[in-house]
Amino acid sequence: MFALPKLTSRSVVLAHALLTIFLLVTSARVAAEDIAVHAGWLFDSENGRLLEKRTVHIVDGKVESVERGFTRRAGERVIDLSAFSVLPGLMDMHTHLAYEYGPRTYTETFTWNPADYTLRAVNTAERTLLAGFTTVRDLGDNANVTVSLRNAINRGDIVGPRVFTAGKSIATTGGHADPTNGYRHALMGSPGPAEGVVNGAASAREAVRQRYKDGVDLIKITATGGVLSVAKSGENPQFMADELEAIVATAKDYGFTVAVHAHGKEGMERAIRAGVNSIEHGTYMDEKTMALMLEHGTWYVPTLMAGDWVTQKATVDGFFPDMVRTKAAKIGPLIQDTFSRAHRKGVKIAFGTDTGVSRHGDNGKEFSLMVQGGMTPADAIRSATWNAAQLLNAQDELGSVSPGKWADLVAVIGNPLEDITALERVRFVMKGGKVYKQPN
Ligand SMILES: [Zn+2]
Repeated sequence: MFALPKLTSRSVVLAHALLTIFLLVTSARVAAEDIAVHAGWLFDSENGRLLEKRTVHIVDGKVESVERGFTRRAGERVIDLSAFSVLPGLMDMHTHLAYEYGPRTYTETFTWNPADYTLRAVNTAERTLLAGFTTVRDLGDNANVTVSLRNAINRGDIVGPRVFTAGKSIATTGGHADPTNGYRHALMGSPGPAEGVVNGAASAREAVRQRYKDGVDLIKITATGGVLSVAKSGENPQFMADELEAIVATAKDYGFTVAVHAHGKEGMERAIRAGVNSIEHGTYMDEKTMALMLEHGTWYVPTLMAGDWVTQKATVDGFFPDMVRTKAAKIGPLIQDTFSRAHRKGVKIAFGTDTGVSRHGDNGKEFSLMVQGGMTPADAIRSATWNAAQLLNAQDELGSVSPGKWADLVAVIGNPLEDITALERVRFVMKGGKVYKQPN
């Protein structure tokens, strides 16, 4: 034991003074850390081209200016990426940070608590950021864990991307994302709007308002059946027009966009007519559906990785429950061709992987599938930067390396316009002017 010094009023004043100075110095240091990033090549996501030798000046976490050549101002810390291609932070418009498909997926629902999903999401969020994805949309979680996850990341308590989350997806009874699908009757219960299950326009409105109360950033609905739910059809329409209209109108009141899971054509077209913002997967869209999307300005988020992944896993005996395996083998292989046709037709495309189906951190593999489907590497990268920012209505803050926007930067070795797989090996990650990964 040792005696604590007696706290005199003089020592208290001194301690306060020292603390104040310390705080001033630290906050001054953080605020004043101006950075100059020397980029060997810089991707101009507005025009889809690489510019040689540019300096990105960063003040307070935002891009202050972009200059030709390598420059440095007094007091700036230089980050030398002169041997790298630098791009805006990548943006994945379809992830599920609280989930990661595996052998225990269908039993987790009975054994995991919200804390288990949350702790998984802490891990998947970090992997996502370190893979170069500085912004994601989360399109469906459990117990709103991604709302708390987003807040913890924004507070700086944990490491992860900027998260725009839909919280729990909204489904209809027995539909894709009804949380008790496949349970035995005694356990099924009758989930309602709070749990994300609606029937009729009034309960659809209630579910959107509940999500507003929960603190989400956008709304996600499941307009048709899906592959991985334990339910018979992967494509039947699951919302009526009046329910869709109620959701879109209510969402607009709160400034939310609406993202729509859809495989089947009928459910998809009802949603597009109701004025939703994006169609996810879109498997069975045809020429008429695409024309409707062009007419309404609807975005398409293809999720080619999910199609590819379920196709592969459907060949493995016992990997999926039988009901899921049949749907996976049927629907999975179609998405790549749908993407090619939609791209040729000129439908607006934003990058999305449905990660959580495949492994978090592998998101960059989507680029190769897009290029195989006929998109140029430059357009594939634009879909994950410029276009994604538009879909988020965040084009003033994200999507390009431009003055006034967040300094979200990634760097790769080589020319990604010649080898798109370079984006699977991101070597440098900065989010809001803070470095999370550096080349070693
Ligand atoms: Zn999904």
